[in-house]
Amino acid sequence: LLRVEGLQKSYGPLQVLKGISLDLRKGETLSLIGPSGSGKSTCLRCINFLERPTGGSIFLEDERIGQLPDGRGGLRLMSDRELAPQRAEIGMVFQGFYLWPHLNVRDNVALGSIRAGGMARAEAYEMAEEMLDKVHLRHKADEYPERLSGGQQQRVAIARALAQRPKLILFDEPTSALDPELVGEVLGVIRELAEEGRSMVLVTHEIRFARDVADRVIFMDQGHIVEQGSAAEVIDTPRVDRTRSFLGQVG
Ligand code: ATP
Ligand code: MG
Repeated sequence: LLRVEGLQKSYGPLQVLKGISLDLRKGETLSLIGPSGSGKSTCLRCINFLERPTGGSIFLEDERIGQLPDGRGGLRLMSDRELAPQRAEIGMVFQGFYLWPHLNVRDNVALGSIRAGGMARAEAYEMAEEMLDKVHLRHKADEYPERLSGGQQQRVAIARALAQRPKLILFDEPTSALDPELVGEVLGVIRELAEEGRSMVLVTHEIRFARDVADRVIFMDQGHIVEQGSAAEVIDTPRVDRTRSFLGQVG
């Protein structure tokens, strides 16, 4: 479904991604773990071209993301307008929830797919109800974000991402802004999505959760993939010292 080849990203002289290659099959959950600053967020943001990579290629179902043939045998960057339909195929959930404060929950979920995905209004509202059901928040549809807990807000953000019918969902530390007692409800929803066969890339510090739900785990350090394999291989029996010491530190 997703293929990343030799992805590089630099900020000026700082090389943050030094050639990341990975594959995600349809229905798979891939977890990216690694120390702070290793480039996990940058990698996710490059996949949907929120950041422009400085090298490498990204393909979603064999369609190249972010670049088009320039007619001279090379490639050129897409405009934001050309990118919009590709971005709509990739849902993203961040650490902060970024809900619109002046819209109720139902509008938050529906308007995303009308604006970004070009969905018809009636369909978007029907979809919103369905996705709120999936995150167990249908009863909060008329509520405004400030009246919800952090865990509920994050579940609304997940419903909003799902409502666009993305082929792939990227999660960047979806629980790290939450009070500890609210983490479980969000992880529970993500687990259900994994079990229903969604295709997802999940950056998380919740190593035990990654061990449980991810089909595969990638350990990144300093812009490189250090180790990858099944969740059990990488987390229970890491082969590389660097992975072992990281896992030792985070428990
Ligand atoms: P964390 O676990 O703390 O979220 P991360 O693995 O997600 O870390 P990134 O956020 O991808 O790491 O950052 C990787 C490196 O890139 C860091 O050294 C960071 O300072 C740098 N970086 C990220 N964004 C920018 C930017 N817009 N301009 C300059 N440097 C950046
Ligand atoms: Mg990050």
